[in-house]
Parts: sequence; C-alpha cells; structure tokens
Amino acid sequence: MPDYKAPLRDIRFVRDELLDFPTHYETLPGAEDATPDMVKAILEEGAKFAEQVLAPLNRSGDEEGCTRTEDGEVRTPKGFKEAYQQFVEGGWPGLSQSPEYGGQGLPESLGLSISEMIGQANWSWSMYQGLSQGAKRTIDAHGTEEQKAVYLPKLVSGEWTGTMCLTEPHCGSDLGLLRTKAEPQADGSYKLTGTKIFISSGEHDLAENIVHIVLGRLPDAPAGTKGISLFIVPKFLPNAEGEVGERNSLVCGALENKMGIHGNATCVMNFDGATAFLIGPPNKGLNCMFTFMNLARIGTAMQGLAHAELAFQGALPYARERLQMRSLSGKKAPDKPADPIIVHPDVRRMLLTMKAFSEGGRALMYFCSQQGDIASRSPDEDARKQADALLSLLTPIAKGFLTETGVEAAYHGMQVYGGHGYIAEWGMEQNLRDARISTLYEGTTGIQALDLIGRKVLGTQGETLKAFTRIMHRFCKANADNEAIAELVGELAQLNKEWGEATMKLGMAGMQNPEEVGAAAVDYLMYAGYIVLAYFWADMARVAAERLDQGTSEEAFYRGKLQTARFYYKRILPRTRSHLAAMEAGRDSLMDIAEAEFLAVD
Ligand SMILES: Cc1cc2nc3c(=O)[nH]c(=O)nc-3n(C[C@H](O)[C@H](O)[C@H](O)COP(=O)(O)OP(=O)(O)OC[C@H]3O[C@@H](n4cnc5c(N)ncnc54)[C@H](O)[C@@H]3O)c2cc1C
Repeated sequence: MPDYKAPLRDIRFVRDELLDFPTHYETLPGAEDATPDMVKAILEEGAKFAEQVLAPLNRSGDEEGCTRTEDGEVRTPKGFKEAYQQFVEGGWPGLSQSPEYGGQGLPESLGLSISEMIGQANWSWSMYQGLSQGAKRTIDAHGTEEQKAVYLPKLVSGEWTGTMCLTEPHCGSDLGLLRTKAEPQADGSYKLTGTKIFISSGEHDLAENIVHIVLGRLPDAPAGTKGISLFIVPKFLPNAEGEVGERNSLVCGALENKMGIHGNATCVMNFDGATAFLIGPPNKGLNCMFTFMNLARIGTAMQGLAHAELAFQGALPYARERLQMRSLSGKKAPDKPADPIIVHPDVRRMLLTMKAFSEGGRALMYFCSQQGDIASRSPDEDARKQADALLSLLTPIAKGFLTETGVEAAYHGMQVYGGHGYIAEWGMEQNLRDARISTLYEGTTGIQALDLIGRKVLGTQGETLKAFTRIMHRFCKANADNEAIAELVGELAQLNKEWGEATMKLGMAGMQNPEEVGAAAVDYLMYAGYIVLAYFWADMARVAAERLDQGTSEEAFYRGKLQTARFYYKRILPRTRSHLAAMEAGRDSLMDIAEAEFLAVD
C-alpha cells in the first residue's frame, strides 16, 4: 500500500463547498476563532501528524501488537507512546474541549476532521485518544462540579485517558443482564466488583492514569436496564492535589488475541472492590452512558469511512500500475506487454464502489458533525431540537451503514490486488482485518438497525425520519429544473417518497406482529443508508456541476465527482430494490422454520 495521504482536497470540498462550514462557524457561538485561515492551518498540521507520525506505526503496530506483563501492565507497540506524547504536546486532545478545563473551545466538527485523519493513518492508535473523548463528554454532561474539576483538566490535556466499560462475559447487546456490583461506602464512594471484557484501551503505557467509566448495579437496584448505575473508576485515585495517588484495585487480567486492530489493547478488566464514584443519578446509568455510546457510535461510523478511504488509496495506484491482459476494446498501452488493470470494467466497478462509499461517507459524517455543533451550541432552541432529531436518526444509519460499506470497500481493496492483496506486505489484508470489528462493537449492525427502526423511526411516529426526508424534499424541489443533475433528482424524489411509504407499511405490519419489524430491520437500515448517501451524492454532483459551469482549473476533480454520482445512482442505488423486497417479504420465511429444522449436523 502506498504511504497514507490525508485527503485534504476532499475534506475541503465537503467542508467548504458542500456544507459551507465557513458560514456555519460565523454564526456558531464560540466558534469565532475558527476562521478559514485558522481551520486551514489546523487541518494541515493534523494531516502532517497523521501522515508523518501515525501512519508509519500502522503496520509495525499490527505486527508487534500489545503485550501484558504478569502484574497486568500493558505495553503498546514501539512508537505508540512517543506519538501520544507528541499528540499531547501539540495540544490536540483539547482542540474542541471547553476552555474552562484547559481546552481550545474550537467546534467539535473541526475535531472530527482531525479524528478522520488520525483514524485513517492508524486506527488502533487513534482508539486510545478516541475513547477519552467519550469519557470527557460523559463527565461533563453528568458529573458533579467536583468530578469535573478533578477529571476534566487531566482528560482535556491528555495526561489521563478514558475507557468505556459495559461488556461482561454473559452480557453484550443486552446490558440489562450485567452483574458488576457497587457497594456504598460510609464516605460516599462505592466498592465496585466485577469483570468487564473486551475493554478497548483498558490498560496501556501511554498516559499516567486511566479513567474507567463503568456500568454497575447498586445492591437494591431493580433488575434489567432500570437498575444500572454509572461510575468513575480511576486506575490511580486522584490525591488532594488532583494528581495521581493511590493505585486502585483493578487490573487487566488478560489481553484478547484478536483478528485485527492489534495495536489497541483489548482487555479483560477485573475490578476487585475498586473505589468507584457514582456519576449521574442512581439507576439512571444507562441513560448517562448513552452520552458516551452516541459519541462512540459516531466515532465508529468514522472507522467505516477510514477503511473505505484506505482501501481506495491503496487500490487506485495499484490498478494504474499492475499490467494484466488487454482491454476488451483494444490495447490501451500498446508499448507495454499488457494493459494496466484499471482498463477492465470489473476493476473500475470496485474502484468506483470504494470511491463512492468513501467520499459519500465523508459527506454524511461531516453533515452529522455540523448538526452536532448546532445541537450543542446554537442559541436557537428550535434549531437545537431539529439538529438533535437529525443526529439521533442519522447516528444508527452512519454507524450501521458506513461500517458495513467500509468492510465492503476493504474487501474490494484487497480484491483489486488479486492474490497480492492477501499477502501482508501490501497492507490490504490488515485494512480488511482492522475494518471487520467496526460492524460488531458499539452495537452490532443488527442492534443499530433495531435502534433505527424501533426507537428512532417508529418510536417517534416517524417524526425524526421526517427531519431528514424534509431536507431531501426541499433539495429535490429546489433542483427540479437543474438540468445538470435532473436524472439524479428525479430518482431521489421517488425514493424519498417510497421511504416514507415503506416505513408506514412496516409500522402497520409491526402492530400486528413485532417480529415483522425485527425481520425487516437490517434491510431497512441498509435501504435507508443507500438513500441517505444518494442525497449527498446528488448534492455533491450539484456543486461539481456548478463549478464546471463556472470554469475551473480542477476539471478532473469535479468531473470525477459527477461521474461517481452517476455510477452511484446506476450501479449502487439499485441495491435498494433488493433491500425493499426483503423488507417487504415479512417474517414468515425467517420465523416459520423450527429450530430443529436448522439441522447443521446431528
Ligand atoms: C475488539 C473489541 C473491542 C471492544 N471494545 C469494547 C469497549 O471498549 N467497551 C465495551 O464495553 N465493550 C467493547 N466491546 C464489546 C462489544 O461492544 C460487544 O462485543 C458487542 O456489543 C456485541 O456484544 P456480544 O459480543 O456479547 O454479542 P451478543 O450480544 O451476544 O450478540 C450476538 C449476535 O446476536 C445478535 N443479537 C443480539 N441481540 C439481538 C436482538 N435483540 N435482535 C437481533 N439480533 C440480536 C447480535 O447482533 C450478534 O449478531 C468490544 C468488542 C471487541 C471484539
């Protein structure tokens, strides 16, 4: 794979030309410092850090992995610690954090662009700092003033990192089953006992302290999700000065041996009467943890984009250089023994699929980040509510759809290399291995699909869905006479209408039998994802057509956008037909087969 290059041109296209971030920042409270010059400088510095510091550690980190000593300490791969020090010294952890705790207060959407680049350069490394973002946000939203004063400055500076501890051996998607216990103590703290598994960045040597955000149960808690509370459990207890004090009784019991993301420590964490501090109200811990989980879901959606971008960046130069067979329409490189494989329609199918998912995914992610800015900073209550509704609808779509398409893109990236893609040297197999976790953690695709159709769409009688379909409707109306994108707009308008009708039908069927909704859920999520991306591709085509019309020195860039939009509508969007058919096929073909009739082997 060639060296990673941050896709700055495309990031600028999405930020400045498609979504008009400069105007967005002019009107966003607290974003005054995010002037176009400042944003440009930050993006360029972030790109340098990603390309020069993190990308060179991606493969070595995969090969070396993490190691655990007998006393439970964990060593990250060579270079990870130094890179983290540079990250902290550069002030990156506090980029979009509150100045009250030492941050720079820049918009979260700017932080997302940095996350994109560092995640693409080295996903395993980026997880150490990524989970800290969720810990900060959770303490900020639900912590007491004292908790904020103790933990936030350290997390914002990056001196301490954070984790998210939900999963237990018997309890994954169904958090109502969790058993970790928290006993109240006379001094107001708790003693927390239990085993958490699969904890990303649970133990490591990058920072002096690790702040675990842990779900547990109080002794008299009701069963199920209504009896879950949330705790801060630091590896070292902060002393009176707020510095690292006594070692807490928790330890990394083992490191998981896993398929990919080898540079990130996936830990079994044993809490043995560890001192814990309640955060948020008792028995409302799951609600508070949703602050963390929603951010983590957006972060994981970004992972889908990361692997699609890496796959495309790896495959394109190879397809231009690798010579195999002749073009079906006659020699294209007569001076060479064969044509480069980019002449073959099937190789183009794979390249364009990666490009469509990567660039379309970027548009969706940056749109989400813009809504996040509005939801957290707008002075207008209606605007905040509207942005919040959009974000709540788009979060499971981005997480579920972009990770599935990220894995597909990583698969194509390997396929373009033929057998060489299967060989470690080229990096395409690492990309596929690293990508695979994204559809599993932070809620599997199946769980995202239930969240989308159950809670977000039917649970609000379609109100959150309308928040997005209205945007598409307005776009189609405004561009009804736009010749340059007429074909796309016509189809988008039809799909928009169909999405509403299909949802109504599903809601009716679900009232007769809730299994109808479960049976349709993943197809519904993918159907929704393809339509959402179709909207962004139509809008990107609109911008590109305008630029070409005005005259530009970057014809290839904008023509590439128009061609990819066309490809997306002709060759990817038809997938909505099969998802719709499967959705409407009903539960019977899944549920009528008796368990005994599955009969793998007897
Ligand atoms: C590398 C790695 C890192 C991780 N990092 C963290 C971390 O930092 N913190 C943390 O707390 N956890 C972490 N996890 C755990 C991860 O979030 C869980 O593995 C995930 O939520 C799924 O839970 P599970 O593995 O128990 O699968 P299960 O919940 O047992 O699910 C098994 C299958 O059943 C399906 N399923 C379950 N219930 C339903 C339903 N109602 N309807 C339809 N389908 C259903 C699922 O979609 C899945 O296909 C990590 C996992 C891994 C592998």
